[in-house]
Amino acid sequence: MKELRCADVGFECSEVIQGEDEQEILRKVAEHAREIHGIMEIDEETGQKVRSQIQDV
Ligand SMILES: [Zn+2]
Repeated sequence: MKELRCADVGFECSEVIQGEDEQEILRKVAEHAREIHGIMEIDEETGQKVRSQIQDV
């Protein structure tokens, strides 16, 4: 399993997103960002930040 803390990407948010692999995390992050943070599309910089903060659990 892998996980990503939304706070590690720079949001004031306690959400922890878990997934089987990086792709699943990225998909869930996109959904979470849209629903909770009102971000319609994750830009290149944020996408890189997300990938660099994904932890193995
Ligand atoms: Zn969040």
